Amino acid sequence: MSDFSAEFSENLRSAGVVGAGGAGFPSYVKAQGKAEYALANAAECEPLLKKDQKILEYFPEKVFDGLELLMRAVGAKRGILGIKKKHERLIPRLEEMAKGRKNISVLKLGDYYPAGDEQCLVYEATGRIVPPGGIPLEVGCVVCNVETLYNAAFPGRPVTETFITVNGAVKKPATFKVPVGITWREAVDLCGGFTIKDPAFIDGGPMMGKVMTDFDAPVVKASAGIIVLPKTHPLIVRKAQSRPVFSRIGRSVCDQCSFCTELCPRYLLGHNVQPHRVMRTMLFSGGPGWSEATQFNDNVVANRRKLHSQYGLLCCECSLCSLYSCPEGLNPREACVAAKSDLRELKMGFKNSAINTGRAPEVHPVRDFRKVPVSRLVRRLGLEDYNKDAPWTEVSYKPSRVKILMSQHIGAPCVPSVKEGQKVEKGAVVGDVPADKLGCPVHASISGTVGKVNPKYVEIYA
Ligand code: SF4
Ligand code: SF4
Repeated sequence: MSDFSAEFSENLRSAGVVGAGGAGFPSYVKAQGKAEYALANAAECEPLLKKDQKILEYFPEKVFDGLELLMRAVGAKRGILGIKKKHERLIPRLEEMAKGRKNISVLKLGDYYPAGDEQCLVYEATGRIVPPGGIPLEVGCVVCNVETLYNAAFPGRPVTETFITVNGAVKKPATFKVPVGITWREAVDLCGGFTIKDPAFIDGGPMMGKVMTDFDAPVVKASAGIIVLPKTHPLIVRKAQSRPVFSRIGRSVCDQCSFCTELCPRYLLGHNVQPHRVMRTMLFSGGPGWSEATQFNDNVVANRRKLHSQYGLLCCECSLCSLYSCPEGLNPREACVAAKSDLRELKMGFKNSAINTGRAPEVHPVRDFRKVPVSRLVRRLGLEDYNKDAPWTEVSYKPSRVKILMSQHIGAPCVPSVKEGQKVEKGAVVGDVPADKLGCPVHASISGTVGKVNPKYVEIYA
C-alpha cells in the first residue's frame, strides 16, 4: 500500500465512513485494495428514493473529488460514474465536469431494477463478471455509493450527518441532510407529518428495505431514506410475512414455474442462483399437518433440504423474485434468506457448497431483454400514488437528543467510549471498534451531555 493509500484509508476509518447505499460496509477496507476501475454508484434503482440524484445535483464536485481520491488510493486508471440516463438535465452537467477531471467518464444506465446492484454495475461498466461468491476487487473494480464518495472528499471529517429521502404518505416528501441519531419521527415531522392514520415504513427503499413500525428508531449513517405507507398496504403486508406463513403458502401454491429464477439478476449474470429450487425446500420441511405418505426418513429430508437450499447461497436479496416475478405472489427471496441462514448453522457457505463447481460464469444470452423497468415495478408494487419527487430541502435541524447506535456498519459493533454525564463536542468519538476487528468509530452528531450508555447505543442531550 502506498503512503497515500494508507493515509486515505486511515482518514476513512477514523471519520467512520461507511457504505451509504444501505449496506454500511466500512469504506477504508475498499481503499486498501488495488483496482483498475473505481466506480461511483449513482444508479439508485430503489423506487421513490432520491438522495443520490440530489447529492449529484447539489454537490457534484464533492462526489468527483471523492472519486479522484479513491482512484489515487487504489491505483485506478479509470473512474466511471454510473447514473440512469433518465436524469437528462443532470447528465450533461456531470459530463462537462468529468471532462475537467482526469480519466473520469459518465456511464448512462437504463431505468431498470436492480441497475444499482454492485455486480450488475460492474458488468455494465466493464463487461467483467464478479466470480460467484466473490467481490468486485477480484475483477479489478472498486464500487462506492455517491454519498460515500461525498464523505470521502472531506479527509478525516467525522460522519455526523447523513442524506435521506422521506417519501410516501407524508405531507411534503423531501430529501435533506440530518444529524445521525435523530428519530424517523423527527424526519417525518420535517416533511410536515403523516397524511395517513396508521403508518408503517420501509427503511431503505421498497425492494430491499425492511418493514418497521417504530418511528422512534434512530437514523444511522447508512440510512438512505424511508417510504411511509399505511400498515395495510399490500407491500407492507407481503414484506412483513413471517417464515411459517410464507413457507405454508409457498408449500401449497408454488407450481415450480421458475419465473423467479428466469428473471433473477444474479442468475442472468451467470451465477447459480435458482430460487425455484430453494422453494422446493418447503416440500421437505415435514412438521405438523403432514400426511404419513409425505413424511420422509429424517436424513433424506435433511439432505434434500440442504441440497436445494444451496441454490439460494448467491442470492443478493434484491426481492425481484418475490415482489415482481412470481405470478403467485410467493416469497422466494425470503426462502433464499432462510435457506442461507439454515446453511450458516451447518457451517456451509458458497465455497464449501456443491454449487461451487469452479466454472466461470457466463451471462445469460437474453439478459438484456429481461431487465425489469422501474415504471412497471412501481405499478406492480402498488406505489403509483406515492411515486412523487422528493425535492432537495435545506434543513438546519437542531435536535434536543440523539441516539447513536453502536452497530451502524458491517463488522464488529463499536464499544462505547464515553460515560454517562460526560460532555462531548460534535464529532467526538463515542464508540470504537477494537483495532483487530472490521469496523470504524461512531461520533457524536451534536454537542451536549451523554445520557444513557449501553452496548447498543449512546444517547446525547443538547
Ligand atoms: S415464480 Fe413463484 S410459483 Fe413460480 S417457481 Fe418461483 S416461487 Fe414458485
Ligand atoms: S432476491 Fe430473488 S431475484 Fe433477487 S438475487 Fe435473490 S433469488 Fe435472485
